[in-house]
Amino acid sequence: MLFNKKITVAAVLLMGLWVSTSAQEYRLPDSHAAEHRNLIAEQSNINDKIKVEDTKQFLDDLLNDEEAEPEIDIYTEGWDSKRVNPYVNAVVPDTKDIDVTNFSMPHPGYVTSDYGYRRRFRRQHKGIDIKAHIGDTIRSAFNGKIRLTNYERRGYGYYVIIRHENGLETVYGHLSKFLVTEDQYVKAGDPIALAGNTGRSFGAHLHFETRYMGIPINPAAIFDFPNQTTHTDIYTFDINTYKNARNYSAASNRKYMAKYREENKAKFEAAAKTTAKGNGKTYRIRRGDSLSKIATRNGVTVKQLCRLNGLKTTSKLQIGQVIRLR
Ligand SMILES: [Zn+2]
Repeated sequence: MLFNKKITVAAVLLMGLWVSTSAQEYRLPDSHAAEHRNLIAEQSNINDKIKVEDTKQFLDDLLNDEEAEPEIDIYTEGWDSKRVNPYVNAVVPDTKDIDVTNFSMPHPGYVTSDYGYRRRFRRQHKGIDIKAHIGDTIRSAFNGKIRLTNYERRGYGYYVIIRHENGLETVYGHLSKFLVTEDQYVKAGDPIALAGNTGRSFGAHLHFETRYMGIPINPAAIFDFPNQTTHTDIYTFDINTYKNARNYSAASNRKYMAKYREENKAKFEAAAKTTAKGNGKTYRIRRGDSLSKIATRNGVTVKQLCRLNGLKTTSKLQIGQVIRLR
């Protein structure tokens, strides 16, 4: 299919992370206008290659191996009849105006991993990861109807797909609990699920995708996460630029992260305690640790730890490394 070929070529060419130049007018909410101007100023030389790599390095550091890519693409083959992608044989327009006026942020967390190519996993990350704690409320991004609530052990965990009135679909992954059922209508901002750490996830977070005709768009092209808003009222899907982040700045995300962590200090402390005790699904390596010590303390076997984390019994553990316990 010609379109698929185009996508493949685009995927190869567009592996970098950069800010698209957009003819659209930026949204500048009063309270954020000054900050926005600063962000735009910070980005003036983002095309500088070193800067872009700094940004990617920052994001890689943030990623902290939280999540491996889902092994099955839910929008391609392998769907049962209930999960058929209705877009498979549809013609995707080169450009399409999508009304995103009436929106809600799915969760107020900061970005922990960006959309795009992940060197570590050598594949595309089709969504954006947002910091969340187990039990946090996840909200519908736009008005719509629940298309699917499902579970994928080796991928998204518990996940919800919503078909929206504006033509987009959104995907919410690694959830701990559904608050909606299939075919239910929801408004932007309605609670749809609780955040979790299910599926191929190594620390509680929300995996969030925005798709048009089944094609994953960079959520940061639509949403301005550090300012908790959208960039514009109309998002113009463009077959050549849908992968690009808009107005993305690692510095602004870092700033927002600091604010968010401060505002949610108790949750972060509680989560850290759970991890340290080994009651959670993950454990952070400390000085003096060995696989056998960790296995004994947590009632698992070395073999299990190796299998879960792709390690060998002889693998060298790094202090600070997060491994999966169960
Ligand atoms: Zn993700």
